[in-house]
Amino acid sequence: MYDYDLLVLGSGPSGQKAAIAAAKLGRRVAVVDRRDMLGGVCINTGTVPSKTLREAVLYLTGLSQRDLYGSSYRVKEDITVADLAARTQHVIGRQTDVIRDQLARNRVTMITGTGRFADAHSVWVDAGSGRETRVSFDKAVIAAGTRPARPDSVDFDDRTIVDSDGVINLQAVPRSMVVVGAGVIGMEYASMFAALGTKVTVVERRERMLGFCDEEIVESLKYHLRDLSVTFRFGEEVASVEKHRTAALCVLRSGKKIVADTVMYSAGRQGQTDELALEAAGLTADHRGRIQVDADYRTAVENIYAVGDVIGFPALASTSMEQGRLAAQHACGEPARAMPELQPIGIYTIPEISFVGKTEDELTEASTPFEVGIARYRELARGQIVGDPYGMLKLLVSPADGRLLGVHVFGTGATEIVHIGQAVMGCGGTVDYLLDAVFNYPTLAEAYKVAALDAANKIRNITRIDG
Ligand SMILES: Cc1cc2nc3c(=O)[nH]c(=O)nc-3n(C[C@H](O)[C@H](O)[C@H](O)COP(=O)(O)OP(=O)(O)OC[C@H]3O[C@@H](n4cnc5c(N)ncnc54)[C@H](O)[C@@H]3O)c2cc1C
Repeated sequence: MYDYDLLVLGSGPSGQKAAIAAAKLGRRVAVVDRRDMLGGVCINTGTVPSKTLREAVLYLTGLSQRDLYGSSYRVKEDITVADLAARTQHVIGRQTDVIRDQLARNRVTMITGTGRFADAHSVWVDAGSGRETRVSFDKAVIAAGTRPARPDSVDFDDRTIVDSDGVINLQAVPRSMVVVGAGVIGMEYASMFAALGTKVTVVERRERMLGFCDEEIVESLKYHLRDLSVTFRFGEEVASVEKHRTAALCVLRSGKKIVADTVMYSAGRQGQTDELALEAAGLTADHRGRIQVDADYRTAVENIYAVGDVIGFPALASTSMEQGRLAAQHACGEPARAMPELQPIGIYTIPEISFVGKTEDELTEASTPFEVGIARYRELARGQIVGDPYGMLKLLVSPADGRLLGVHVFGTGATEIVHIGQAVMGCGGTVDYLLDAVFNYPTLAEAYKVAALDAANKIRNITRIDG
């Protein structure tokens, strides 16, 4: 009766996983997206380009090796935008190919164009040729993602004043840069440009940054970034940005003025729902373009689901993929189990941050007792070998039963090794597992054993006195 059992709008991580999950369940599936956007924001302008750029910056600047070879160590003296872009283009090309192949292998039809709802069971797809095709479906998944929010008062020109999409297409590495907004994306780019030698000033309206992370780790990050000449202006707001012939002049509400080659706005994101004609399907979006869903990712219209950044927090590629898979399972009437409480967070600043579970602040607020076990990379042989003297791993442990309440990692490999803690927590393990297990040596993973011993010793000391 319908052209497809499931139609997915958007080929980012959430759309891909929804499509493949439904195809694996034997459904006839199609994905609609623009020709140049296969893989979504994730592959083309967001996660993958930014993480590849970070890797190129770390390699070419030799930053992560300077503890071993001295502060003047560089792989390349004059790093150009072309050096950085080469790696990014290579990875984007390869990843796009992988996605195209995965969709094809699973017999998912790719429909090129922009989709908009005709009604709750069909969309018009405009391939750009002026001709629209009507495609019908039983169920749909909206996976349309977001784009950078651009304040109306700012005159973006994609050269001097850019957003996070524009920053990957700069013509040259700026000598100075103002980053407006100290969120995850802002701080990741601030780190990369600081590592390249750009004088970065971060302007943030709030008094602190990354408030959802462990405070001690955020302090360490700030210390490291200041060491790379980053200036923080917390509790400050940009009042205006004036474009001049050779640079931009940022005027803060406090009256301070900052001259910079580039101003990068990282002021939140807007759901890409304006072109979807949601009303034709009986749907609406909020003022930030986000669509509301229930616990099964179902929208207010029974046969239409929404996943990924378009539904808002946490707006990560990692969570988006899982939401896509779960929505498809629900749409196909298959059982699905979610694990929202063990959602890991990875922040690719330099150095990187990752955590899972609760922070000290959250536990204190909830009056949940905890003990802290810390391992510092400088005390691990692997930490010395890789030249990371500042990294650390922190375990938050319940003194009553040894359960891990939170794992916080800062430094080399943080986003990888956090998953050891996540696995222990997910399997209901306690600190005892980490005490008893033998870890490869020398590894950064060994930090778990060291931190577990630290926490266990502290708990034992308290028990000895307190009974
Ligand atoms: C700079 C940056 C760095 C990031 N780094 C990380 C990171 O390190 N780790 C992490 O987990 N996440 C990261 N993210 C977030 C991550 O990129 C997003 O969470 C993820 O891409 C969201 O996936 P999605 O499936 O919602 O769709 P998106 O990737 O946003 O893609 C949406 C797709 O929908 C398409 N679309 C929109 N409207 C229509 C329409 N009407 N018809 C057809 N197609 C349409 C678009 O063309 C696009 O291809 C980063 C984001 C940015 C911007």
